[in-house]
Amino acid sequence: MEATRDVVIVGGGVIGSAIAYFLKATSAFAGSITVIEKDPSYEFGSTARSWGGVRQQFSTPENIQMSQYTQEFLGQISRLLGVDDTPVDVSYHEQGYLFLAEDHQIPRLFSNNAIQRSLGVNVGLLDADDLARGYPWMNVSDLAGGSLGLSGEGWLDAYSLNQAFRKKAISLGVSYIAKEAVGLESDNNRITAVRLADGSSLSGGYIINAAGPHAATIADWAGIDLPVRSRKRYAYSFSCRTEITGCPLLIDPSGVHLRPEGKQFLAGCSPSPENDPDCTDFDVDYGWFEEHIWPILAHRIPAFEAIKLENAWAGHYAYNTLDQNAVLGPHPEISNFYFANGFSGHGLQQSPAVGRAIAELITYGQYRSLDLSRFSFDRMVTGGAISEHNIV
Ligand SMILES: Cc1cc2nc3c(=O)[nH]c(=O)nc-3n(C[C@H](O)[C@H](O)[C@H](O)COP(=O)(O)OP(=O)(O)OC[C@H]3O[C@@H](n4cnc5c(N)ncnc54)[C@H](O)[C@@H]3O)c2cc1C
Repeated sequence: MEATRDVVIVGGGVIGSAIAYFLKATSAFAGSITVIEKDPSYEFGSTARSWGGVRQQFSTPENIQMSQYTQEFLGQISRLLGVDDTPVDVSYHEQGYLFLAEDHQIPRLFSNNAIQRSLGVNVGLLDADDLARGYPWMNVSDLAGGSLGLSGEGWLDAYSLNQAFRKKAISLGVSYIAKEAVGLESDNNRITAVRLADGSSLSGGYIINAAGPHAATIADWAGIDLPVRSRKRYAYSFSCRTEITGCPLLIDPSGVHLRPEGKQFLAGCSPSPENDPDCTDFDVDYGWFEEHIWPILAHRIPAFEAIKLENAWAGHYAYNTLDQNAVLGPHPEISNFYFANGFSGHGLQQSPAVGRAIAELITYGQYRSLDLSRFSFDRMVTGGAISEHNIV
């Protein structure tokens, strides 16, 4: 058996690497940290397949505050994550999200806006005339309004953020090992070690589940039912000969979303719950684009009648079937087994706040910067779902 490590993190994606970085950067934390990552190419995790979007337009205060911290973090990223004074570039592109609403969605748009503004989010409400004036290429005939992020929203390269956390963590002394975790060892309501596929095991005082879409498997090794499932989502990249200027990240009332990506566009749409099976393959459903997404795109932006599909990929959400929100912190009975899972479609932007939060819990036994206790594992047991209205 290898020497005891104080913290063992299963999964070195953006969440596991953010936790490793924040823990090691906390001066009051004195232990060692090992990250077990089975896929050193990082090709198959959620992170590398993410759209990389960062928005403040949520309805749950903690979700808003986590993204606000991301903005703060991005503003200092080279100072915080730079190694040997090399600047860190995650290709952050600041541009607002525009949530479009039909008449019946206006009350929700207003109530979300009230929460957002009370927390200092720079967001504006637009009526149909504003939309028609601001976006002359858009069909607004069935729209009653929209909510536009005026600053502090945009998108970045998710893989680069993952690697920046990882490289900085390694430079501070975190060990990454390229192996697969296959089981847990326990004793008296404590996890004592993580078993690896090569037959060895790694002991730890704290074990953190940061395994993304595979989180339920790791939980199951301890007999814990974690309602987080791997669910497939697509990104379709297309070009259009007509120039569409000033396009924000657009969320159509149908749920179809798109954003400019260089000279092209990316589009996607989450399926309805009854068409969203657990799924681990990466096959792309081109029919979903042709039959569902494209007609909605062409309705909203008539120039998109004539587009060329250029590329597409599939990735997996770690989908929390209870409420599509994060599960954070220790298990109520196995108190050295920590969870950072279930982020569904918004984990990339929560990674700095989650890394900081788990580091605080482990170092000080409590949240210090931002109270995220609403996301604790307890609600998986009580069924007390968090009602976030702005899920994409
Ligand atoms: C198509 C798509 C678009 C998205 N768009 C956005 C967006 O715009 N904004 C946003 O905030 N979020 C978005 N997300 C969600 C976001 O990408 C995820 O929430 C985030 O990347 C989760 O990071 P993670 O570290 O938890 O998971 P992952 O990146 O999946 O990392 C988990 C790691 O654990 C490793 N692992 C698993 N099991 C084991 C094991 N047994 N042993 C060793 N290692 C193991 C895996 O190899 C993997 O590298 C999107 C996701 C997808 C799929």
